[in-house]
Amino acid sequence: MNWKLKKEIIEKLEKEKGYKVTKRGGDVNLLFIYPNEYSTSVNNLGYTGLYKLLNDQEGILCERAYIPSDWKRRENFKVYSMETFRSAKDFDVWLFSVSFELDFFNVIQILSMEKIPILSKERDDSFPIIIGGGIALSSNPEPISEVFDLVFIGEGEDFIEEMSLMLLTKRENNWDKKRFLIEAQNIEGVYVPSFLSAVYNKDGGIEKYMGSQKIPIKRRIYLNFPEDPMVSPIVTDEAAFSDMALCELVRGCKYQCRFCLAGYFYRPYRASSIDKVYKKVKELYEEQIPKLGFIVPTIDQSIKFKGIGSYLKSEEIIISFSSLRLEDITSDILDIIGLTNQKTVTIAPETGSDRLRRVLNKKFTNEDILNFVEILKDYPVNTIKLYFMLGLPTEEEEDIQKIVELITNIRKINKNIEISTSFSTFIPKVHTPFQWEKLAEKEYILETQKFLKKNLKEISKLKIEMKDYYWSLWQGILSRGDRRIGSLWNYIYKDGLKKNVLQKFLEEDSWAKEVYLYKEKGSTEYLPWDIIDTGVKKEYLWKEREKAYRGEITLPCTQNCKMCGVCT
Ligand code: SF4
Repeated sequence: MNWKLKKEIIEKLEKEKGYKVTKRGGDVNLLFIYPNEYSTSVNNLGYTGLYKLLNDQEGILCERAYIPSDWKRRENFKVYSMETFRSAKDFDVWLFSVSFELDFFNVIQILSMEKIPILSKERDDSFPIIIGGGIALSSNPEPISEVFDLVFIGEGEDFIEEMSLMLLTKRENNWDKKRFLIEAQNIEGVYVPSFLSAVYNKDGGIEKYMGSQKIPIKRRIYLNFPEDPMVSPIVTDEAAFSDMALCELVRGCKYQCRFCLAGYFYRPYRASSIDKVYKKVKELYEEQIPKLGFIVPTIDQSIKFKGIGSYLKSEEIIISFSSLRLEDITSDILDIIGLTNQKTVTIAPETGSDRLRRVLNKKFTNEDILNFVEILKDYPVNTIKLYFMLGLPTEEEEDIQKIVELITNIRKINKNIEISTSFSTFIPKVHTPFQWEKLAEKEYILETQKFLKKNLKEISKLKIEMKDYYWSLWQGILSRGDRRIGSLWNYIYKDGLKKNVLQKFLEEDSWAKEVYLYKEKGSTEYLPWDIIDTGVKKEYLWKEREKAYRGEITLPCTQNCKMCGVCT
């Protein structure tokens, strides 16, 4: 093993506080691979949480692996386990956690560097069993499904227990890979891609699947979440939230934003409580309680923040919420901003007009945003972050002009606050009401970005981040594609992850962009991700799309609702 890499791993382990694996050797040795750098892996609560859960299983030893930090400069790199520096090839099972579509590239890179055949069907029993999970893979495994022996769909807590038992049974009975996969397909949420093959029609769509596994594959939901919230067992100063234990206070989101995959994929909305989370933190960290970072998609009144004040007096708690829903701002929520001394608040207006915001199912108005900015003057907040998307369904020139108007008005109300804006390209996400939409053309996005930069440049203390269209395009292809992407994996496997290699695919397989991104899908079309049943009915999504076009609002999830099909 390269001494520089070993040193890098030792330094990282020395900085980690919290959970340490004490087992040495297991009946089944599993390598839990995060196909990106270490600092990203420790920010992923699903990854670190399941790492401990795996090691809690009898007979299973789980070690972590990530991509070395200097890998982009190196022609060659190998993956080693963090805990015992063993080569990846020494493990019985590889489990990939894939939360971002662009990490698909890195999965292929790892296979190439380790000289592991790319397709499941090309690997015999001498290779490790390769399993994948994580939202990017779970929501539409098809573009990369044939690489994995088995893909897990949904939330992992129960799956870990059942899969561990299955792996131990395989070992006890000396099953070969085929027998193992036949048995494993009976675990809810398990998809064995090699058991199916896709038949395509002449319009470029999917005609049907043939093979032995029953589809669609039902997404696994962890209903015990309110009693057993996820808490990060490891803290380190290398994470974005330095030395902070991330705590998942809620799973899912009750608002029904029509563009949001997480909002649709993690239904139903489930809330735990501060007390439950804190109990788990105490079990994990005993006397040395770290700072706590509560993850909630958005703060709303249903989250039980009562009692947080007493914790705040004795502990350092940071609440991280991706954005605020302004229609739900209450004095309690404002108290939290004050008590936790938040310096930055984030709002996602998404667009500049109230009309287009309703299309997305966001009810708050520009007036609500401006009123909130006024209120913030009484709090120690010094930065307001605003997230926008360009190329949204029904977007017109007026919606873009209103973005300029909105930011200008925020500046007028508060001359001192830093305004940080981010503009990304709307990607029609799978399993959402916008799954049938097209991606906006490059020319339109570049023109719009230019217009905004020109018209916002006079505003003081304003940061503008324009996300690169090129990577949105790739994210779109990887999230919406099907098995025919296979040629791309072959290019990367052979020639490495280079821009000219990606370009080669875009040129030689130009149909992929057309079919996956620039063609509106039909209501009855079989979509590559229809192979997954999230529980949300397709008819519901279509109705939501029609409501979007009429600018009608759908109310947040409530008790006893049976609207989308997830709650029974
Ligand atoms: S059935 Fe109703 S409450 Fe349940 S997830 Fe769907 S919309 Fe939300």
